[in-house]
Amino acid sequence: MGYECIVKDTCPVCGFYDYDGSIFWKNWENTYQEICPICGTQFGYDDSNLSHEELRKNWVENGMKFWSSSRKKPKNWNPLEQLKNLNLSEEEMKELFPDKL
Ligand SMILES: [Zn+2]
Repeated sequence: MGYECIVKDTCPVCGFYDYDGSIFWKNWENTYQEICPICGTQFGYDDSNLSHEELRKNWVENGMKFWSSSRKKPKNWNPLEQLKNLNLSEEEMKELFPDKL
């Protein structure tokens, strides 16, 4: 069973972008298991049952944690800034943060 590598440089769930250009995605392009170091989504597995929207909602409801314990958290990491990489609509943001708006 093969599936396309859908993760290029921005995670469709949490918006993580490999802005320091070093570790995260490059080594994964040829593997069959890509796990976002931020939200922990395992592409091709987690997203076969849940949509990226649902996975994002779960991540937000769990406090937008930095998932990976083996990778260094980028300096000045800000999950809310990171979500902006996804260019979510106002509706989608309201859906994610119903209490804050
Ligand atoms: Zn992610």
